[in-house]
Amino acid sequence: MSTSLDYALCATCATQFPSASQPIICPICEDPRQWVPASGQAWTTLRGLRDSAHRYRNVIEPNPHDPNMHFIRTLPSFSISQRAILLFSSDGKSAVLWDCIPFIDDATVRDIKQLLGDRALVAMVISHPHFYSTHVEWAEAFRCPVYLTTKDRPWVMRPAPTVQVFFDKDVLELAPGISVHRVGGHFDGSLVCAFESPTPSRNGKTALLVADSIAVALSGIGERVRLQGTVSFTFMYSYPNMVPLTPDAVLHIWNAVKNIDFDVVHGGWDGRDVWTNARAKMLESAKIFVRSMGYTQHAMLEE
Ligand SMILES: [Zn+2]
Ligand SMILES: [Zn+2]
Repeated sequence: MSTSLDYALCATCATQFPSASQPIICPICEDPRQWVPASGQAWTTLRGLRDSAHRYRNVIEPNPHDPNMHFIRTLPSFSISQRAILLFSSDGKSAVLWDCIPFIDDATVRDIKQLLGDRALVAMVISHPHFYSTHVEWAEAFRCPVYLTTKDRPWVMRPAPTVQVFFDKDVLELAPGISVHRVGGHFDGSLVCAFESPTPSRNGKTALLVADSIAVALSGIGERVRLQGTVSFTFMYSYPNMVPLTPDAVLHIWNAVKNIDFDVVHGGWDGRDVWTNARAKMLESAKIFVRSMGYTQHAMLEE
């Protein structure tokens, strides 16, 4: 008997569709922000991934500077190869899963439940549709609602009213010290997550979790001082096809995060972490970005 493990899953973006019959196209990958390989659209299934000779597995690693945050990713890398981040709330009672990765198996569920202990996983929330992947499988496995923005509802390929909660606010608090903020840009509903960790060494500072509306650039990683004009962050409409966002969109993103007192940023991929002075670096990067488009006057440059 076929189950959701047999539902069609796009091999490029890992979006899971609502039945075992393969659609002709993947709308996520046919969109200008994604891509279809030259060899054409290809499909797999979650069962196919579990049985694969690649022996996919998820690794869960604590943030070396914050035991209340764990990074979750799949090895070897598959599709977009993003990471998910598990956050423990400041009241010690709840947890939130930021973003979603496609691969999930019994070991993943067991290991995360063990980490949670007495904490309740109260919410999953996903930055944008490129990471929607198999979120229904995750939400059902943890009996946890998944929060999605109404603005990006057309990009939900597997509707599941029992677990999906659509919201239309610009800011949504999911647990004490954990909120998501709509920045738009890459997608109309694109979100970032602000995490006020209970870890004392954080000094009350917030970590900002981002994905594609704001992305950590290679030069942002680590703590080296870089030459003037070097960006730490980028702001793109399409990453695989290298299409930038407009200066107005960059300003909109900045306005949505500038009042958050963040010093660290964690990007959507393993190792994409800005460990120091991230808010100032983001402002500097946004200005470099707008100037490089030829603007000598723009409200972004007045920030
Ligand atoms: Zn796809
Ligand atoms: Zn994206």
